[in-house]
Amino acid sequence: MVYGAKIIAQALQDLGVQVIFGLPGLPVIDIAQESMNLGINFISFRNEQAAVLAASSYGYLTGKPGVCICVGGPGVLNTFPGIPHAAANCWPLLLLGGSSETHNANKGAFQEMDALPIFSPHAKLALRPPYPEMVPSFVRDAYRAAMFGRPGPAFVDLPANIIMGHFDVERHKLSPLLEAPKAVAPPEKIRSAIEALKTAKAPLVVVGKGAAYGRAEKQIQALIERTGLPFLPTPMGKGVVPDASPHNISAARSTAMKTADVVLLLGARLNWILTFGLPPKWKSGVKIIQVDISADELGKNGHDPSLSIVGDLALVVEQLVNEIGNWRWQGQSSEYYRTLQAAKSKNEEKAAKKASAGKIPMAYEKAFGVIQETLNSLSTPNNGDIVYVSEGAKAMDISRSIFTMEHPRIRLDAGTYATMGVGPAYAIAAYAAYNYPHAEGSAGTRGRKKIVAIEGDSAFGFSAMEVETMGRYRMDVLIFVINNSGLYRGDADSKEKWQQLQDMTVAGSPARPKGLSATSLGYETDYQKIAEVAGGIGLVARTPEELKEATIKGFQAKVPVVVNVIVDTQTDLEMDFSWLDMAPPTDKKKKEQKL
Ligand code: ADP
Repeated sequence: MVYGAKIIAQALQDLGVQVIFGLPGLPVIDIAQESMNLGINFISFRNEQAAVLAASSYGYLTGKPGVCICVGGPGVLNTFPGIPHAAANCWPLLLLGGSSETHNANKGAFQEMDALPIFSPHAKLALRPPYPEMVPSFVRDAYRAAMFGRPGPAFVDLPANIIMGHFDVERHKLSPLLEAPKAVAPPEKIRSAIEALKTAKAPLVVVGKGAAYGRAEKQIQALIERTGLPFLPTPMGKGVVPDASPHNISAARSTAMKTADVVLLLGARLNWILTFGLPPKWKSGVKIIQVDISADELGKNGHDPSLSIVGDLALVVEQLVNEIGNWRWQGQSSEYYRTLQAAKSKNEEKAAKKASAGKIPMAYEKAFGVIQETLNSLSTPNNGDIVYVSEGAKAMDISRSIFTMEHPRIRLDAGTYATMGVGPAYAIAAYAAYNYPHAEGSAGTRGRKKIVAIEGDSAFGFSAMEVETMGRYRMDVLIFVINNSGLYRGDADSKEKWQQLQDMTVAGSPARPKGLSATSLGYETDYQKIAEVAGGIGLVARTPEELKEATIKGFQAKVPVVVNVIVDTQTDLEMDFSWLDMAPPTDKKKKEQKL
């Protein structure tokens, strides 16, 4: 007789799973325990939401589905955000949820809830094995669905009577799934793509996180170096081609988008992150050559799909490089290139000015400048020894352009779904992906990496308790909480003023200027203290000198460190978000006509 939990654990072992993220409770505790008995790491979180977000990013970093285990009912509902999150990001995730006994269905069983109809519309596959014999093949099918084709989430519901029962079943070892099948492009598609690039007046290459996931860095670097084409990475496409490349025109992002006439889109979608590839942010009639593993994606938003290519990025870009031969873009003296360079210099100058401002509390730019400079003095960026996690509105947006990435898969942020609360979860996942004994590490880098999280104070609040998880597993993550006492902006620039607003709010007064606004957070909340209760180190930094010292201490520590970085509350800041074009279509048309 074999224990049900063991059958499940063996299936995961057969598939090569090395880490499971989860929050154990009845009936899934024994799946965790049996998996650990088989040598699989189990990382136990404080909330299922953080566990599933960690598993999804582990899938992105390793190229294999991240596995998450949770209990049914409230537990599985807490993981729910992770399913559309993984789908939106195209990250492979296998979620295993325990559920109440099938024979107690509809009787008011413990945590009873039928998760299949809830998860099915958002997952690539959602299954419940009716018999214990079927568990291994269902787990394998779900794992395969998560990983093959366009990656995404899959779910297996495991009833308690299967997990906790003993069964007379024979063990059949599952065949492993080492690599997803990959397709190349027909030669004529490669030729027409090259022809379009060669005849473009203003060509642009856009590199997305699909290129990082597809491990296409070698091929894309060869393409950029050989042709000299200007390129632009998306937020998580950063590092596929090193940011230091002379062909990187990130600092002229808007200008490049507005002027390019032919765009080679590698592992990125024309969604909100790339403002849909449409005017007014993009040139009207821009030709898109999109390379993607998913045919469904091509031709979206009214674009002509005829030049686009279905296939694996690494293989297709290699085909493009072979076909292009020694051709080199000669547009360096063109009006297009001059415009890009001018915009780049202007924007870099603007950023440098903000970063050099000497006032206290520090501007975001100043704080990030100090952190980056100090980290670079402790670790050479070319080695890719630091993984950056970043979330929050201002903290994520501003840090993205300041922190340069010279390697792929070392930057994680809120992603396509703009999910908040990902930071501590991603940091734990990155730690496991890069620092556990089985970790592959990233090409050209040493095995061990320091994980650094840049957290907005609001974003940090979503899953701050996961610092205890880091402490428990002795993960030496370095967290900076960028504290401006509010979402987007704070309400007051002194404790006294903030308290006056608080008094009015408590007394039942309406919002600012009388009381606190909806976006206010506690004034200079002591976020560093959470590290202290978790066996870590908490530090506060108000000045560049304090921040430098805290960064050095945090980098060298062997326990989690939370640095509470007090920055300018920016009370008068306009609430805009440059990535979004919120104007309704009619206003947009007017705006377009004006341009
Ligand atoms: P970004 O957020 O960086 O703009 P997206 O998540 O929008 O990137 O796009 C990533 C794209 O990469 C998805 O459309 C996905 O189908 C695609 N993709 C993932 N892996 C591969 C691969 N190996 N080959 C080709 N395309 C891939």
